[in-house]
Amino acid sequence: MSIRPILIHPDPRLKTVADPVSDITAELQKLAEDMLETMYDAPGIGLAAPQIGVLSRLIVMDCAKDEGARPQPFAMFNPEVVWASDDKNIHEEGCLSIPETYAEVTRPAEVIVRWTDPSGDPKEDKFTGLWATCVQHEIDHLDGKLFIDYLKPLKRQLITRKMVKLKRERGRA
Ligand SMILES: [Zn+2]
Repeated sequence: MSIRPILIHPDPRLKTVADPVSDITAELQKLAEDMLETMYDAPGIGLAAPQIGVLSRLIVMDCAKDEGARPQPFAMFNPEVVWASDDKNIHEEGCLSIPETYAEVTRPAEVIVRWTDPSGDPKEDKFTGLWATCVQHEIDHLDGKLFIDYLKPLKRQLITRKMVKLKRERGRA
């Protein structure tokens, strides 16, 4: 396994709709493992393939982040929200592609997601709480959407400017 560099917003690859995966090859299984390792290393609770520059519909997540909690890693190919509750939840979200920036986003409180696991088996599960927020945030990445796209334009512009500056500073370091 290896840790992949994470793209920082703004980057055109973070705004691109990712392609469906038709065949889960050994290469894609390895990619899923690399993404989990990259996510745990960051540390983060979710990561989408476009965030490491791969435009395929693949996300990983593990929201079992309490001290001493057993890891619950998910790797989902072609994840799809097939049902969303009318009830909403507000969560303060962050993103590994938008470091040190957090904002409240309103989303459905519960969702049912259908996906294919790394062995090629179809799966379906209901997610609530932080898991529901996280899975929707990651699926958004596959459609070229970031959590800051839910914010008012002015707030979004301020964050984007901060990221441009951060990238410039990191480039110089
Ligand atoms: Zn994100």
